[in-house]
Amino acid sequence: MRAIEALERLKDGHSRFLKGTRESTNKTLSYAKQLHNKQEPFAVIVSCSDSRVSPELIFDAGFGDLFTIRTAGNIISDYDLASIEYAVLFLDVRLILVVGHSDCGAVRAAAEDTPCDSMYLTGLKDAITAVIEVEMSLDDIAQAHIEKEASSLTARSKILSQTGQLRIATCFYRLDNGKICW
Ligand SMILES: [Zn+2]
Repeated sequence: MRAIEALERLKDGHSRFLKGTRESTNKTLSYAKQLHNKQEPFAVIVSCSDSRVSPELIFDAGFGDLFTIRTAGNIISDYDLASIEYAVLFLDVRLILVVGHSDCGAVRAAAEDTPCDSMYLTGLKDAITAVIEVEMSLDDIAQAHIEKEASSLTARSKILSQTGQLRIATCFYRLDNGKICW
């Protein structure tokens, strides 16, 4: 599926989520069983691990639709990048959507420079701290951070930089009203 069609499909799914008119057939056991020997996801979604930002729910997607990478604070590690390359190379996905969200705990920890004994959590925090400038709100930082992560992909990956018709986009999900700013 072309990137523009994939983006429209995500927008349509999100509209259904907001209206409460979810599709049901693509979420059943029988539908899942039909996909046992193949998958053709139409988008890669990079979202936060936050329990309130579930891609399949906010995009009203079903089994086999989304190839998802979820990490606290949308930090894209080398292994995460490998997952993205796999989806592009072997599953022919042409849309990568990085989904940021409001009130992100990882962003808050970076903004408040919360001390922590873990080198892993400190590293995660430092990855976000790089985008922080004075007078930025938490949501400003979250948005700047996902833009940075998204734009780093083609710089880091030769495969992504050389794949034709590939689109890397960002959007921002608001926890208080369930709406996505595209
Ligand atoms: Zn988050």
